[in-house]
Amino acid sequence: MQLFDQQQIQIYNTLSGEKEQFNPINKGHIGMYVCGPTVYSNVHLGNVRTFMSFDMIFRYFKHLGYKVRYVRNITDAGHLENDADVGEDRIAKKARLEEIEPMEVVQRYTVDFHNILNKFNFLPPSIEPTATGHIIEQIEIIKEIINNGLAYVVNGSVYFDVIKYNETKPYGILSKRNVEDLIHNTRALDGQSDKKNPQDFALWKKAEPQHIMRWPSPWSDGFPGWHLECTAMSTKYLGEQFDIHGGGMDLKFPHHECEIAQAEATNNIAPVNYWMHANMLIMNGKKMAKSTGNFILPNEIFSGDNPHITKAYSPSVARFFMLQAHYRSILDFTNDGLLASEKGFFRLMDAINSLDSLKTEQQSSFDVSVWKQKCYDAMNDDFNTPIVIANLFEAVKHINQIKDGSATITEGDLNILKDSMHAFVFDILGLENANESNASSDKLSGAVEILIQMRQEARANKDFALSDKIRDELAEAGIQLNDSRDGTTFTTN
Ligand SMILES: [Zn+2]
Repeated sequence: MQLFDQQQIQIYNTLSGEKEQFNPINKGHIGMYVCGPTVYSNVHLGNVRTFMSFDMIFRYFKHLGYKVRYVRNITDAGHLENDADVGEDRIAKKARLEEIEPMEVVQRYTVDFHNILNKFNFLPPSIEPTATGHIIEQIEIIKEIINNGLAYVVNGSVYFDVIKYNETKPYGILSKRNVEDLIHNTRALDGQSDKKNPQDFALWKKAEPQHIMRWPSPWSDGFPGWHLECTAMSTKYLGEQFDIHGGGMDLKFPHHECEIAQAEATNNIAPVNYWMHANMLIMNGKKMAKSTGNFILPNEIFSGDNPHITKAYSPSVARFFMLQAHYRSILDFTNDGLLASEKGFFRLMDAINSLDSLKTEQQSSFDVSVWKQKCYDAMNDDFNTPIVIANLFEAVKHINQIKDGSATITEGDLNILKDSMHAFVFDILGLENANESNASSDKLSGAVEILIQMRQEARANKDFALSDKIRDELAEAGIQLNDSRDGTTFTTN
């Protein structure tokens, strides 16, 4: 019997607007697709939060014993600034400004994306396909939609016919819009567009002569519309119908709405059983934006090099901070919040690291099995990580009481407690044990202090050759000595 047979998950499904019992299409297997980044700039902290939510969900499914195929794409074909239809290609724009190849832009920011996610201890997805690697599949889908009478060709571009589609299938079911309202709220076409209706969206765009990223197709040399890549890649790797599709809240409309329409128009079946959307991240109560200065890059959290924070925070502290909010709540990123999380994080790690030295007794003064199921219940309730963390701190309280002799635990219960703490803290929340790295940095400090002392003795003996040698060789090893009136300190890089 697998853990997933014992734990029934409820997932909030954007499609129904309710929490639903989660039942995968194939028992024991889960197919999950999450819209990945467009790689034309450093990954935004808000996107990191979205991907972190799905990393935690992926980790929980794996913990329960599910075989998960988790697909998260890389948008490297560069979608247009204005929702896939007009404007400049974002990757091409960056390439033009920096006078480099579009694929250099893609490479640079894909590497940045992976670096940041590694620091935050993300598990890699099972498949990370790219849009440019799936142009053929996208062209095939367009052919199908045209064959099914739901797309039309104008001047080398292909558009999805939303009005026609809406005659048989509701367009807007995910974002709870209806086409009549959309028509009412959209200004009329200005005559420049090839579209029959403003609601229609591009499946294929003919490239202007100056457009660098282009591929041949039956209709023109051009490029696919942004919404199409996710339909192509999710269908290819997860099938015409799969369990979970996730992404940021901002993708609900039009991106995910268009994905549903494209898949329905191709396969005549609803592509996704559970639509999940992660809420946004704000900073100091306001929208994060480079233009207003209310902005921080993920790397700046680790270096402390940003005016909105007073110090550097480790990736695990930042991760812990983010998981203290439920994925469907808005998260306000603040220095005070990080400081509080850091305190809590170290308290949690201290308790975990003391588990091995706890004394056991004949009786337990609290029910560890009940506590353990409360942790599962919180995860099963739409992945409620703040409640899980509250439960972890309840365990911390008991651990500290056992330490000071005011509570007791049996050997059997202690083993359950250890296993569960490790499972929830490291495997599911994905935090990394701070004391391990603290211990090694303590040893390093001790060794450097000895060398600083030897250098002082060398100087007192006027052996400047030796004192310089110690300084220079430490510098070569990445350790800088800083002399001041109060003595010598060191920094590492
Ligand atoms: Zn997508």
